[in-house]
Amino acid sequence: MIIHDITVPISNRLFVWPGDRPVSLGRISKLEEGAESNVSALSLSVHTGTHVDAPAHFIAGGGTVEGLPLEVLVGPAALVEIPAEVRLITAEVLEQVDLPAGTERVLFKTWNSTFWPELEDHFRTDYVGLDESTARWLVARGVKLVGIDYLSVSSYAHTTSTHLALLQAGVVLLEGLDLSKVRAGEYELFCLPLKLLGSDGAPARVVLIER
Ligand SMILES: [Zn+2]
Repeated sequence: MIIHDITVPISNRLFVWPGDRPVSLGRISKLEEGAESNVSALSLSVHTGTHVDAPAHFIAGGGTVEGLPLEVLVGPAALVEIPAEVRLITAEVLEQVDLPAGTERVLFKTWNSTFWPELEDHFRTDYVGLDESTARWLVARGVKLVGIDYLSVSSYAHTTSTHLALLQAGVVLLEGLDLSKVRAGEYELFCLPLKLLGSDGAPARVVLIER
C-alpha cells in the first residue's frame, strides 16, 4: 500500500485567494523565553491551501462543513489527467476523458500542478478550472465530489456559475490539491476536513491510497 499525501503545507509563505486573509502561524509561548511549553497559534481563511467548500460558500442558508457526508469524503476516486495545453475544462474536454462508469469522486490534475513546487509564488488568475457546462456534465453523471489542483474548481472567469451548479447539487468541492507527484488512475481517497461548526469551508488533510 502506498500513501500519497496530496495536501499543500500551510505556512506563512502560502499564497491565498486575492482579498483573503493571509496565513498567520507562530509561537505565542516559547520554551526559550522561559515558558513551560511551546504553543503556537493559527489564523487563516477556511479556504486556505487544501480545503473543502460547503454549499454555504455560495448559497445563503446552505449546508455547512460539519454536515458534509463522510461517505462522500472517503472512498474510491478517479484521478484524471487533463492535457497540459488545456486552459479551461469544458464538457467537450471531459467527453475526451475516459471517466470510468459510476465514478462518484473525480480529481483533476491539470497544468496547475506545475505551479505548486513554487509555494512562495503569488496567486495567479490564469489557472485551469471548470466552466458551468462541465459542472452540469459531472452532476448529470452522478459525481458527488470534485477535486482540483488549484484554489478553485472553477476557472477565474466562471467562479460563481460553476460553484453554484456544483454546490446546489450537493457536490463536495475539494480545492488546493497538490497532485504534482501522482499519476492518473484509481485510488482510495481520504479527505478529512476540520470539523468547524457553521463554516462555509475547512482546511483538510487529504491522502490517496494506492493498492
Ligand atoms: Zn474554497
